[in-house]
Amino acid sequence: MYGQVVSTEKLTPQLVRVVLGGEGLADFEDPKSADAYVNCFFLPPDAPYGVPFEPDAVRDLPREQRPFPRRITVRAWDPARRELTLDIAVHGEVGYAGRWALHAKPGDRLQFKGPADGYSPDPAADSYLFVGDESALPAIAACAERVPSGKPVTIVAEVEDADGEIALDSPGELIVHWVHRAGRTDLDNLLADAVTALPRPDGSVSAFVHGEAAATRAVRRVLLSNGIVELERLSCSPYWRRGLDDEGWRAIKGQWVRAVNAETFPATAGDRAEI
Ligand SMILES: Cc1cc2nc3c(=O)[nH]c(=O)nc-3n(C[C@H](O)[C@H](O)[C@H](O)COP(=O)(O)OP(=O)(O)OC[C@H]3O[C@@H](n4cnc5c(N)ncnc54)[C@H](O)[C@@H]3O)c2cc1C
Repeated sequence: MYGQVVSTEKLTPQLVRVVLGGEGLADFEDPKSADAYVNCFFLPPDAPYGVPFEPDAVRDLPREQRPFPRRITVRAWDPARRELTLDIAVHGEVGYAGRWALHAKPGDRLQFKGPADGYSPDPAADSYLFVGDESALPAIAACAERVPSGKPVTIVAEVEDADGEIALDSPGELIVHWVHRAGRTDLDNLLADAVTALPRPDGSVSAFVHGEAAATRAVRRVLLSNGIVELERLSCSPYWRRGLDDEGWRAIKGQWVRAVNAETFPATAGDRAEI
């Protein structure tokens, strides 16, 4: 499946909105979950083929000519207009996805597989907590729009500075805490420290913590070790890893996720034992 760029918009210096449309989206299926994603194929500059391409036909090309897959959240799908909205983080002139978004113009094409479904806010939860950086902001924004009306929703979002903040909307009672990197380099605990400073929520919390791997791991520790969120109500996904491109990250991601899942937290175990 592929889409043709209808429009682009620089939401912030670090986040570009790309709206895709056209005949190539005729078979796109409405995602069931709030947080769904597509696996996009970004072509290297010297690719001897264009979009659409036959996946089987490019499989045997040298690695540097094959498409580079990157997962991107479905920010919105409008079946009536047949338009798919993707918000893509840009981080300088690096990265196949980031660079493509930075330079995308109407008429450009993007091929992808999906959508695949992910997290949806549990309607039975008493409140919601969504945490992440620019890569997770599209999913956070989509999830905040899909919570039951009137329930408390807290978003803790890491961006570069005030210019990196976007408008977020929810039928819930929304509180947004923006956390600014502001040129800092010790970033692993920035979100975790902000989450630690939050007032303790009452009742059951449905939480979504996605983004940079070390940052999501640190937030997960805070939430589980303090018994703020139960493991089964926590969606935690390391989207990317600082210092690695997606190829490098995917090569070690399984090992990382196993190590994270093996971490145990006495406070959580104690809380559970008492119930
Ligand atoms: C299910 C899922 C959904 C996702 N949804 C989105 C989405 O909606 N929008 C989105 O932008 N990303 C999203 N991501 C993350 C995205 O797939 C990765 O960040 C991807 O590595 C970006 O590819 P790239 O080609 O731009 O950079 P790469 O070629 O992978 O990396 C180049 C360099 O940029 C760094 N880098 C990568 N991502 C970032 C970043 N966000 N900020 C700063 N530096 C970075 C890398 O560490 C590396 O040094 C999602 C990931 C998953 C698993």
